[in-house]
Amino acid sequence: MASYEIPKGIAASKADENAHVCAHMFIVVGPSGTGKSTLLGHLMDVRKSCGMSRSTTTRAPRGTEVNGVEYDFVDIPTFEKKIANGDFAEYANVFGNYYGTPHSMIADNVNAGRDVLFDIDVQGARNLKKQYPGAWCILIAPPSMAVLEKRLRGRGTDAPEVIEKRLNTARSELAETGLFDFMIVNDDLETAKSQIVALYDMLSLRAAH
Ligand code: ADP
Ligand code: 5GP
Repeated sequence: MASYEIPKGIAASKADENAHVCAHMFIVVGPSGTGKSTLLGHLMDVRKSCGMSRSTTTRAPRGTEVNGVEYDFVDIPTFEKKIANGDFAEYANVFGNYYGTPHSMIADNVNAGRDVLFDIDVQGARNLKKQYPGAWCILIAPPSMAVLEKRLRGRGTDAPEVIEKRLNTARSELAETGLFDFMIVNDDLETAKSQIVALYDMLSLRAAH
């Protein structure tokens, strides 16, 4: 049988795990409480070709969060030292805390042949898109503001004044136009889970763009 070379920069068949020649980046954006971590957690469970970019933050861990799992939790001087060292591909102040994407998270995943998933805010998404124009930006939208408020309160991890701040920010984030390539409305969770997997499956097969 004749063999052929996969053109450089074209995503190879997932049938050969070692043949992944082009990593894709998926920036998932949406108001806090809209279900981003739930959906990304599902995608990570069912698609082993994905790697999550773990951010660094000065926010305190909440609930069952563990350092080095959901985030790398650091103090403000440590974060500022990392900024000065140029360690971040992007960073932003969100709800009064620093959050940043280390360059190493992108490099480690790409070098391991994985597509990279990001859960970051709109400022971060805009900055990353500037550096990586081929990255896909996916908005996870709540079915309504009332549902979003219910989820934030139901999660039980934030004080009432923090929830208020998150709801106000949500309105402006949802009004951001021109940034998002796709939108998933997270109403019924099972539907949204299949939509994010279907979107990933389609986009990860796309040739470099
Ligand atoms: P984010 O990462 O966007 O801040 P989470 O994934 O933490 O949001 O979700 C916020 C809360 O809403 C969690 O308690 C989660 O279990 C719940 N949730 C997520 N998606 C749905 C859904 N489709 N229906 C009902 N509850 C949901
Ligand atoms: P939370 O405190 O709920 O974990 O996150 C608050 C917000 O910060 C979310 O919108 C989340 O997407 C965003 N965020 C998390 N990590 C980063 C990051 O590295 N960079 C930026 N710009 N935003 C981030």
